[in-house]
Amino acid sequence: MGEPRTIHFVSLGCAKNRVDTEVMLGVSAEAGFRHVDDPKEAEVIVVNTCGFIGPAKEESIETILEMGAYKDRGACEKLVVAGCLSQRYPNELGLDMPEVDHFLGSSDMLKLHAVLKGREERMLVGNPAEYTMRAEDPRILTEASHRAYVKIAEGCNRSCSFCAIPSFRGKQRSRPIDDLVREAERLAAAGVVELNLISQDTIAYGRELPERATLADLLEALGEVAGIEWIRAHYLYPETLTDSLIEVFSKHDKVLPYIDMPLQHASDRMLQRMRRGHGGDRVVRVVERLRASIPNLVFRSTFIVGHPGETDADFEELCQFVEWAELDHVGVFLYSQEEGTPSGEMPDAPDASIAEARRAELMRIQRPISRSRLELRIGTELDVLVEGVSDESDLLLQGRWWGQAPEVDGSVYLANGTAWPGEIRRVLVTDAADYDLMADFIDSSGQRDAPPDAKDPRPAKVKLRTLG
Ligand code: SF4
Repeated sequence: MGEPRTIHFVSLGCAKNRVDTEVMLGVSAEAGFRHVDDPKEAEVIVVNTCGFIGPAKEESIETILEMGAYKDRGACEKLVVAGCLSQRYPNELGLDMPEVDHFLGSSDMLKLHAVLKGREERMLVGNPAEYTMRAEDPRILTEASHRAYVKIAEGCNRSCSFCAIPSFRGKQRSRPIDDLVREAERLAAAGVVELNLISQDTIAYGRELPERATLADLLEALGEVAGIEWIRAHYLYPETLTDSLIEVFSKHDKVLPYIDMPLQHASDRMLQRMRRGHGGDRVVRVVERLRASIPNLVFRSTFIVGHPGETDADFEELCQFVEWAELDHVGVFLYSQEEGTPSGEMPDAPDASIAEARRAELMRIQRPISRSRLELRIGTELDVLVEGVSDESDLLLQGRWWGQAPEVDGSVYLANGTAWPGEIRRVLVTDAADYDLMADFIDSSGQRDAPPDAKDPRPAKVKLRTLG
């Protein structure tokens, strides 16, 4: 047997794309390839692209060009482009990028095996409806060893006017509950304690399955998996939550009372233009109901500013809503004009400078709200999932309490004690900043830990692990 061949991956875009990259990493390992960090050393380079909005498309194209250069000044023999960009623009890319040897779409991860074994067809972009991930698909985790994203469904059945995703990711296909439980069991066996459930429209999970499973059923089933401690559901469309779903969020000790619900706007006019299927009153009612029915709720949302037709009055309404709602975490995105979408044809888009000013203003409004929500935690005890040594200082450990999702929310900084990444530890919150908390470990009797000892809490920066 010779040396394993070498491969390098670049994963762009969202967490869903990251899962796809992890599956392709698994496929490449099965085909006898070893991942190398330096693209110069790789015989095969795979760029998993994002085609969601303008800036992401530009970044994808720049990355393909950059990686293509390794065919001249590195070991690269084969450049593969996968993901949403090639799913969305296969013909254009095929013509404009002769340096690319193979194109895979957003659901063609398993075809990489044939490419690595010498399949010669260049264009392998398939129909997304023909593939939904399965627990048995090979996957190698690239994130911290104790958390993982789980794709519970692909595609989306909604028709928000600004969004191109349904046009190239297809209609919703949910994975069966037993398949997701099997994946959770494999992840738990590999040391994962936190599951972050993702899809385009998580609240609609299971509606098209023959057994008509619900998100509540799925959360209950995943809650039974030994070793999994935290389960977080991302991207809930603002619908009225069923009583059974509220009950799971309120009472299940592993399902975090953390609602991540992209509301997008609060003005009736804008929600109508965005074709969200509801008005501003629904947005207010949903927030009120969730606050009233889920004790200790942490609420994250995202908004779009600069959509065509957004007037000063619409924006003012959004600002008033954000002030009123006092959400824990808010993200604000600039509208991006996308071809093939109804919004892309609409006139009256605000100037880019106005949209940027609105984004800055909304973040300015949210910053003290975020801080005051965190200040409520000072003096209380919380469970924190330890991530490792802080990015800010080697003298601090860094983690997240359950009200902070990975990558999008803030962190908890810990100045005393020692811990291993992946441990969930009790802490006492000592201070708050705009988006972060400071805390000390406490032992089970409520005593603060002794100062740091020699136990090295550093995790490997990127740990590649094959699921068993
Ligand atoms: S629910 Fe999300 S993915 Fe689906 S169309 Fe609307 S914005 Fe796009």
